Amino acid sequence: MNNITLAPVQTDQPSHLMPVFGRQPISFVRGRGAYLYTEDGTEYLDALTGIAVCGLGHAHPVIAEAIAEQAATLIHTSNLFEVPWQTAAAQKLAEVAGMEEVFFSNSGAESNEGAIKIARKFGYLQGIANPKIIVADQSFHGRTLATLSATGNKKVQEGFAPLVEGFIRVPFGDVEAIEEAAIQYPDIVAILVEPIQGEGGVNTAPQGFSYLEDIRRICNQHNWLMMLDEVQTGNGRTGKYFAYQHTNIVPDVLTTAKGLGNGFPIGAVMTQGRGVGVLTAGNHGSTYSGTALGSRVVYTVIDIIQKENLVENAAKMGSYIVEQLRNQLADQNVSVRGFGLMIGIELPKACAELVDIARDEYKLIVNVTAGSVVRLLPTLNISQEQADQLVERLVKMIKTFLA
Ligand SMILES: *Cc1c(COP(=O)(O)O)cnc(C)c1O
Repeated sequence: MNNITLAPVQTDQPSHLMPVFGRQPISFVRGRGAYLYTEDGTEYLDALTGIAVCGLGHAHPVIAEAIAEQAATLIHTSNLFEVPWQTAAAQKLAEVAGMEEVFFSNSGAESNEGAIKIARKFGYLQGIANPKIIVADQSFHGRTLATLSATGNKKVQEGFAPLVEGFIRVPFGDVEAIEEAAIQYPDIVAILVEPIQGEGGVNTAPQGFSYLEDIRRICNQHNWLMMLDEVQTGNGRTGKYFAYQHTNIVPDVLTTAKGLGNGFPIGAVMTQGRGVGVLTAGNHGSTYSGTALGSRVVYTVIDIIQKENLVENAAKMGSYIVEQLRNQLADQNVSVRGFGLMIGIELPKACAELVDIARDEYKLIVNVTAGSVVRLLPTLNISQEQADQLVERLVKMIKTFLA
């Protein structure tokens, strides 16, 4: 624990933070790979990675070096100028994402704001005055006004009326509901869904990824934009670079963030096909869009994911963890689901307290979503030994909890 500068918190003074987060009574001062450490040096296995963000693990030396070098060279000049690292990052991201155009944003919500703007402009160009976007139940798209309006969770929306108009909600996985909406509303321009709902409980559609193929077909039929929110599922998380690559289709608009910067706050909205050319000069922007520093981080993250075959590792270790959990919990009333290293263990009862139990008794950081789903989002470069450690702690904990 050498060379750590601890935050100069004035413990005799009140916190001035706006109390919007329900925080756990612990803080970490340092991380390394799949582990987090408190000030006294206690080690925790991190199966949450800052909510699917630090996929390469904490304090990755190559990322740390890239950040340090770029910070000491040039952080930001604005988009009034060419930004070579931004151009390079967009080239690399477009290649792994199968997309043509890239706009860098600063968060997931902002990426989805970009997608919503593209959909509206796409409608505008066809003379549609009140363009509508189909979204799903239990979805999560962010906390800005437009994205919370798109989100399928009343708790996220409560207190923020009037919501942004123009969203039509259908049950996740229900193709017929989309076809019915197409008949009922002639001014639909796009569909926005997550390939796997993360905050909603690690849900794939009941019919699996063929749901995405059906959406693609319907979008083609009606000239709608197919827009996928891969803020959480992107960047190797599900065992493909982007989750849609589990299918044979390609969306018109693709958003991402979280793992894109391994903790550096950056996102992207991307287009191909009929999404290309919709936004033009003056339509969109952000002071921080694709800074030299952020772009270099994106470039470096993708480079590491490629060179270290981390997408393949996520697929392999994900299957291994799911198989081990299914075997070792076979006598328990649980169901294990997920793709790659986005895994949910659904328990037969509410289990929010497992977050505290995992942390305090098993030195394991996990998350519980949708009330009864233990969500695992470990590092993409998790080793066999770390995976075994994770499974061992989870199995012990869940058996004890359900006993
Ligand atoms: C986290 C998340 C968002 C919001 O991203 P922020 O960076 O928190 O704004 C949007 N969509 C999905 C699917 C997410 O998981």
